[in-house]
Amino acid sequence: MASQNAIGIDLGTTFSAFAYLDRNGMPQTIANLEGDLVTPSAVFFDYGEAVVGREAIKAASYEPEAVAMFAKRDVGKPLYHRPIRGQHLPPEVILAAVLRKLKDDAAIKLDQVEEGVITVPAFFNEPKRKAVMDAGRLAGLKVLDIINEPTAAAIAYGVQAGFVTKDGLVREPETILVYDLGGGTFDVTLMKIEGSAYTALATDGDSQLGGIDWDQRIVQFLAEAFLEKHRIDPREDAAAHQALMREAEEAKRGLSTRSNLTVRFAHQGRRIQVALSREEFESLTADLVQRTIFTADKLLRDARSSWAEITRILLVGGSTRMPMIAAELEQQSGMSVDRSISPDEAVAHGAALYAGFLQRGGRAADRNLAVKNVNSHDLGVLGLEKETGMKRRRTMIPRNTTLPARSRSRFVTHRVNQQRVVIHVVEGGDDSGKNATPIGKCIVSDLPPRLPAKTPVIVQFFYAANGRLSVKAALPDVGVEASTTIEKAYGLSEEELVEWESRIAQGKYLLEVERPKRGVDETEAWFAAPPAADAEPNQDFDGPHVFQENEDSEIFSDLEF
Ligand code: AMP
Repeated sequence: MASQNAIGIDLGTTFSAFAYLDRNGMPQTIANLEGDLVTPSAVFFDYGEAVVGREAIKAASYEPEAVAMFAKRDVGKPLYHRPIRGQHLPPEVILAAVLRKLKDDAAIKLDQVEEGVITVPAFFNEPKRKAVMDAGRLAGLKVLDIINEPTAAAIAYGVQAGFVTKDGLVREPETILVYDLGGGTFDVTLMKIEGSAYTALATDGDSQLGGIDWDQRIVQFLAEAFLEKHRIDPREDAAAHQALMREAEEAKRGLSTRSNLTVRFAHQGRRIQVALSREEFESLTADLVQRTIFTADKLLRDARSSWAEITRILLVGGSTRMPMIAAELEQQSGMSVDRSISPDEAVAHGAALYAGFLQRGGRAADRNLAVKNVNSHDLGVLGLEKETGMKRRRTMIPRNTTLPARSRSRFVTHRVNQQRVVIHVVEGGDDSGKNATPIGKCIVSDLPPRLPAKTPVIVQFFYAANGRLSVKAALPDVGVEASTTIEKAYGLSEEELVEWESRIAQGKYLLEVERPKRGVDETEAWFAAPPAADAEPNQDFDGPHVFQENEDSEIFSDLEF
């Protein structure tokens, strides 16, 4: 298949972008059917049909109950955080609708698009990565691989700015800080590139900070001006609040290129006209910029690095267009910030380049580019401690281990005549397994009768560079290679995926619903604050947990450490 038929997709929380490689192997952003380079990741479920992008945003003003936004924040959970027309949809299905639009729009330019690489935040855990893979599958896209957003950005900047060759080789070793400020999230990653090895040294972020916070400061500024002049707070009216948000966002964008502007706003027949300078805007939002610097400082400390060691700073995400961001980073680092490519497009371009690398080298190990990563959560196994019989979690691959990673551990069976051994695989949590997220089971079944207790069980983990985990278990003393299976604890099962594939193919995102008589519903603001995101990346775990003997240990009882 020709390489330009693979696309790179930056599946964003607020906006998505996609790119392909041209005849010269250079990434080009694909404009969607509306002619825009970025597509809002919003889906309007218009009775079965899924309408994605700008039109979905418009529909949200009059049919908010039919529009899904920020679905990326719910990835890894079983369902989107609220019903759509009374029906609960998995986030995979909403993202599939977004991916399908991108794939279909790309196919108009490139004839046929079957394969692609999708990017995810560096801190996405295994169930979330799997969910994104599944969303790709539901969209009819063959997902060649999942790649971390900062890694994709580094590849894109590297190739386009010339410090990386088209084969992904870096000329000089680089230590790169990728600063990604999007619409609703902030991520910062420290990467090392040597030769063709891209290693994410550490990653951190603030899942509750993004461009929307800058908008809200302008909303507050305007609302106070309105209140002062007319004794009315426009924020108390949902529709007026929406209009105010739109004005604020527009003003913010304007101030990225102009040093002064006038914002006009009307509500209930009353109007205001307020001058806002870039300087004033910067002082209204100075603490927000400082929050990002605080996170970057923490990241550098965690990675035992410093601003002085950084060779390049790359800007990603639409919000880095605000001049205050580069200015502050330049002040902190004493170096100039690389702004050579569009921050909205860098991630998609990197994904397209990576898709090209994969296609040229096939999926074999001899890829031109070795993309390295770290795992963001401890991965372990639950069992019982031999000495005490109490439940424990044994870490197989500690967090921040460079991927790919392998580990091998010896356990023993717990009871006489055990017919099977279930290995409970968990992510995060503490030493007793508290707060750990079950991510799957590996079951060794068909064990011979009268198997003595304490028969050795060898468990092996292989965590691939793309974040996919394989678990194997064997009982060598039995001399039989036992069969093993991974069962996903989260996400869609194979049957559900097959069912959704067929529903989506028939355009049945929603089951039959009556189309009611239309009335304008202004009671719900579509831009209502995004749902709370999951736990912060790089969350530190408490020290050893003091566990209670009487805690239910049923699920731990197959294995002893
Ligand atoms: P992203 O999620 O990376 O697409 O970033 C979207 C965010 O970037 C939104 O909050 C936008 O308001 C913001 N943004 C886009 N363009 C600009 C600009 N020229 N100046 C300031 N913010 C911008």
